[in-house]
Amino acid sequence: MEESLPRSRKTRHGFRNLNPRFRRPSEWQRWKFILSRGWSTTVHPRTSPLVPMDNDGALLRANTRNATVTWISHATLLIQLERLNILTDPHWSERASPVGFAGPKRLVAPGLRFEHLPPIHLVLISHDHYDHLDVQTVQRLAQIHRPRFLVPLGLKQWFDELEIPDVEELDWWDSREMEDCAVTCLPVQHFSGRTLSDRNRRLWCGWAVSGRNQQFFFAGDTGYYPPLFKDIGQRLGPFDLAAIPIGAYLPPYMMRFVHSTPEQALQIFSDIRAERFLAMHWGTFDLAEEPLEEPPKRLKVETHRLGLDEKRVWILQPGETRLW
Ligand code: ZN
Ligand code: ZN
Repeated sequence: MEESLPRSRKTRHGFRNLNPRFRRPSEWQRWKFILSRGWSTTVHPRTSPLVPMDNDGALLRANTRNATVTWISHATLLIQLERLNILTDPHWSERASPVGFAGPKRLVAPGLRFEHLPPIHLVLISHDHYDHLDVQTVQRLAQIHRPRFLVPLGLKQWFDELEIPDVEELDWWDSREMEDCAVTCLPVQHFSGRTLSDRNRRLWCGWAVSGRNQQFFFAGDTGYYPPLFKDIGQRLGPFDLAAIPIGAYLPPYMMRFVHSTPEQALQIFSDIRAERFLAMHWGTFDLAEEPLEEPPKRLKVETHRLGLDEKRVWILQPGETRLW
């Protein structure tokens, strides 16, 4: 790899973002947010506008030819490309939380039952937050499917402690080959941590999967910092399909550096030079203050304002499969 590639940087405070203006919220702002979220989700639990589609997985299990994508829910996608079945940030559990009795509860069932999955060959993890990395799900995958896991720097030890084999850690811009695919770990703007004491000890990333003729982009969780995405677009674009998060953007004092608004998600889409947009990271867990049905509405308004063909911007239901 060339010297000029922006590899990750680790200081004694953990991994850093490339954006020099990146700021984390103050201790006070974080506690205020956690308490107000805890209060409102307990006193006024909200419902999801999403309705899972009927998908028994039969077509997916039979398919070895076509490139498909299935939105399972949140950041969990099943990608079929070059005879590989790939999952991103797999999550089939009831909560995105360290404990079973509290924390963000799943509001819509996964769009495909775990038992109905085709054989999974590869799992891509973007970072260690509970809504992206679920212990029960990865253990179950390791036991039943024995996939290869590609993870960002610092996460292999976490898998080792669970005795999950076949895990490889990548830095930003590292690539691995599998079948006819090249998989590249990409820089995005976020943070990590599963406890009060492990903030930013593990890296966060997006992923690109390049087949012989088709390219897929997965943003993981990210704020909008234009140089990152322009760089990705220049080096690896154009992409045929891009899965980009559109939810969890309010309040701005917590979210503006670490999550994208629907409008920023469409800027990412254009910066990386993608052909089709798949909306993810919304409607599944109640993680932020915006109404659960708001992200796709804002996405549609912005799609229209930009004069984009709405057929290029996919707002799927959980379980919905499309060819790409
Ligand atoms: Zn996150
Ligand atoms: Zn997330």
